Amino acid sequence: MNARLAPLTGPLTLARPEILDLEPYSHAAWDPALERLHANELPWRAGFDATRAGLNRYPEPQPRALVEGLAALYGVTPPEVLVGRGSDEAIDLLTRAFCRAGEDSVLICPPTFGMYAVAARIQGAGVVRVPLAAPESGFGLDERAVLASCASETSRVKLVYVCSPNNPTGNCVEGSTLLRLADALAGRALLVVDEAYVEFARHASLAAHVARHPHLAVIRTLSKAHGLAGARCGALIAAPEIIALLRKIIPPYAMTQPTIENVLAALEPRELAAARERVERVRAERARLASGLASLRCVARVFPSEANFVLAEFHDASAAFARARAAGLLVRDVRSQPGLGRHLRITVGTPEQNARLLAALAREA
Ligand SMILES: *Cc1c(COP(=O)(O)O)cnc(C)c1O
Repeated sequence: MNARLAPLTGPLTLARPEILDLEPYSHAAWDPALERLHANELPWRAGFDATRAGLNRYPEPQPRALVEGLAALYGVTPPEVLVGRGSDEAIDLLTRAFCRAGEDSVLICPPTFGMYAVAARIQGAGVVRVPLAAPESGFGLDERAVLASCASETSRVKLVYVCSPNNPTGNCVEGSTLLRLADALAGRALLVVDEAYVEFARHASLAAHVARHPHLAVIRTLSKAHGLAGARCGALIAAPEIIALLRKIIPPYAMTQPTIENVLAALEPRELAAARERVERVRAERARLASGLASLRCVARVFPSEANFVLAEFHDASAAFARARAAGLLVRDVRSQPGLGRHLRITVGTPEQNARLLAALAREA
C-alpha cells in the first residue's frame, strides 16, 4: 500500500505491473572459462560450422561485446542498450512491457511505418492516430495534437512513436521538438523515436540524449545503413531501468551466433568507414534519382528525403508501378496509407538500377 502511494517517478511507473513483478527465465550460466556440461548441448560441432564459438553452443545472452560495441557506435553506455533481432524486436518488447491488453494504447502519426500498429494489435492494445500534416506542408508532426491525445485521462497512451526520418515520407522531425515532447510526456507516456534511417539524414541521432530525458527511447538498426538486414540486429537505446525491464522478457538466446560474429565484424573501424562511404554513395544517388524523377512527365511531385528512399506522387501510380515491374524492378506501393493515394516509395538502388527505373518510367504507356 505504502509502496503504491509513494510518489513514483521515472518511466517504469508506466510499465505493466505484472512485467515489473515477473521472475525472468533463468538461463544457463555464462562462464567461458569453464567447460560446458550444464546446457545439454552436443560436445561436437558440425563439419560445415564456420563460426568462431561453434553452433553446437547456445550463444551468450545479450552478448557483452556486442552491447559494448553498439554502445560505442551510438555514443551511449552499455546499460542503455538492448540488442535484439532487428528493431522490430524492440517495438514488440516495448509494446508487451508497457501496454495492458484491452486497456492501454500506442500513438502513431500516419503515414508511417506499419509495425507499431501491428505490434499493438498483437498485444491487444489500442492504436491512437494523430496524422502528420498534409503533404503540401511537408508531413510535419502535430505536436499539440499528440500532447492533447496523451493528456486526456481516458486515453491511456503509453507509447508515442515518431519515425524520423519517417518511412515512407522521408522527412525528419527537429531534434529539439522531440526532446521537448519527451519531457512533456513525462509520467504519461514514453516517446519512442525510430531512427532506422538516421545515418542517411543531415539530422544527428538523439541516442545520446536518452541519459537526460528518461521518457525518450531511441530505436536504431543495422539493417539499413550498415547493409545487414539479413543478419537481424537492432538496438533500443533507453534509460537503464527500461533496458533492465526488457531484458527480463526478451527470449534468452535472441541473437544467433552467426549474427553476433557478423555484427562484431561490421563494427571493426575499417568496416564502419566502408559503411559510411556507402551511405555517402546512397545520398549522392538519392539526389540523382530525385531530380531524375522530378523531370518525368508521369511524376506529379517528388518529396525531399533524408533516408535511402524517395517518395513520389504519380499521375497514374498503377501505370508507374507496372512499368517498373515490367523492367524487372519492384517499388513499394504505399497507396493504402492516408494521404498517399497516388504515391510510390522507391528505394535508392545502384546507379544502373536507378537509371533503368527512370528509363522505364519515362516510357509512355
Ligand atoms: C526498415 C525499418 C526498420 C528496421 O527494422 P529491422 O527490424 O531493424 O530490420 C525500423 N523502422 C523503420 C521505420 C524501418 O523502415
